[in-house]
Amino acid sequence: MTALDDLPTIVIGAGPTGLAAAAHLHERGLPFTVLEAGDTPGAAVRQWGHVRVFSPWRYNIDQAARRLLDEAGWVAPDPGTLPTGAELVDDYLRPLAQLPQLKPHVRYGARVEAISRLGLDRLRTAGRDTAPFLLRLADGDELVARAVIDASGTWSTPNVLGASGLRARGEAEAAAYLEHALPDVLGADRGRFVGRHTLVVGAGHSAANTLLSLAELAAVEAGTEVTWAIRAAAPTRTYGGGDADALPARGALGARLRAHVDAGRIRLLTGFSVRALTPTDGRVSVALRHGDGSAESITVDRVVAATGFRPDHGIAAELRLDLDPVLGATRALAPLIDPNEHSCGTVPPHGVDVLAHPEHCYFAVGMKSYGRAPTFLMATGYEQVRSVVAALAGDWAAARDVQLDLPETGVCSSDSAVSAGDDCCGSQPTGRGLSTGISGGLRSAPISLVALNAAPAGGCCAS
Ligand SMILES: Cc1cc2nc3c(=O)[nH]c(=O)nc-3n(C[C@H](O)[C@H](O)[C@H](O)COP(=O)(O)OP(=O)(O)OC[C@H]3O[C@@H](n4cnc5c(N)ncnc54)[C@H](O)[C@@H]3O)c2cc1C
Repeated sequence: MTALDDLPTIVIGAGPTGLAAAAHLHERGLPFTVLEAGDTPGAAVRQWGHVRVFSPWRYNIDQAARRLLDEAGWVAPDPGTLPTGAELVDDYLRPLAQLPQLKPHVRYGARVEAISRLGLDRLRTAGRDTAPFLLRLADGDELVARAVIDASGTWSTPNVLGASGLRARGEAEAAAYLEHALPDVLGADRGRFVGRHTLVVGAGHSAANTLLSLAELAAVEAGTEVTWAIRAAAPTRTYGGGDADALPARGALGARLRAHVDAGRIRLLTGFSVRALTPTDGRVSVALRHGDGSAESITVDRVVAATGFRPDHGIAAELRLDLDPVLGATRALAPLIDPNEHSCGTVPPHGVDVLAHPEHCYFAVGMKSYGRAPTFLMATGYEQVRSVVAALAGDWAAARDVQLDLPETGVCSSDSAVSAGDDCCGSQPTGRGLSTGISGGLRSAPISLVALNAAPAGGCCAS
């Protein structure tokens, strides 16, 4: 053992993936420390604690974590039921983090601000692979590590409202009227929505969840209005695959949403992007732009930004990362999950080799590993960390024997308007996941592009 081997592996984040990594590190007898920015295990999950997940318990528990919990006499939840985020924390993550094998090694209120190599900036090559990592925390404390498993998720870095990936004009100034994705409309946050008009922007499951809660609220609270703006010409992808969805709860979500829209309880605006926000007399005016350049504005009380998430690679800016330019995942993983091509939620089993960066022994895992792709499942993260930790232990046979405990879906069947030839998974018979029942990626649901009068035919570099 070298001195470097005596240093702990540092895991960033005590969410489902980070705590699973801790369980595997314990099993492998490797020293570790988990640094969690929040003050509880599953701090991000707790923020969407009121939302019921789509995957049943059987897919939500890591195997190494399970072994440790079983040893301690844990009563496992019914594998077939769907927990809320709060139940995921209370019935699984908290008991796991409390185990004597993990508890002394988990630090709360420890936000990692930056990661580098001790004594080496990103430019320096000589000695790099044998230099310890240096992690600086928000409180100024510094720690050294043999390896870093970055399981910090994406919850705290939501996408902006502006369609071009930049903030809409006035977005920062209108912050008091904006809601993070998935507010607790029927619970703690109810007061902000009762008797008010809310605009939900976005076309994913977070938007659908919020819209259903708002429609439920509107049914019992007079004056509560709901408008939904999407960029696509039709909400086909949000409505999803219905009965063809491998997760019935997810399929039902789209069907319920469609019923509210068809009945006029939710007003749907299609083909819109958000251009500007202007606070006006205690409300906020939202300027929306059509694909043909024409504009419309709507004045509402609240705006829910359900536009997805992006990874924060800023903390690793001094490391040598080889990121896919589209997703911000590794280049090996990105083509397997690119939402332009895939919608199925399937992925081939993958581990350390697919997650490796030029920076030896730094791995982004879990939700963060998917970058901007929205289809991550906990079970995928559990296999990622099993493989990464096996590699850190030098057990390359186990590290490369990647398995995924999810049904093999192969082809995603479809009831959408997309042609059969666009099937997204036909070429990936080994994909594992919980198919969504819709086929084709974002390319099969084009948005109207904003037209310019004098756009050059050959792009910026016309021959
Ligand atoms: C509403 C919703 C429903 C979902 N439903 C499902 C489902 O049905 N099935 C499924 O498999 N997946 C589902 N997912 C996707 C995914 O599995 C979860 O988001 C899961 O929580 C990801 O786990 P994670 O550990 O990778 O990240 P997170 O749960 O986001 O955990 C990251 C942790 O890192 C901490 N952290 C962040 N930055 C720092 C820092 N700089 N320093 C220290 N700590 C930091 C955070 O506080 C957090 O505790 C859902 C996601 C959402 C949002």
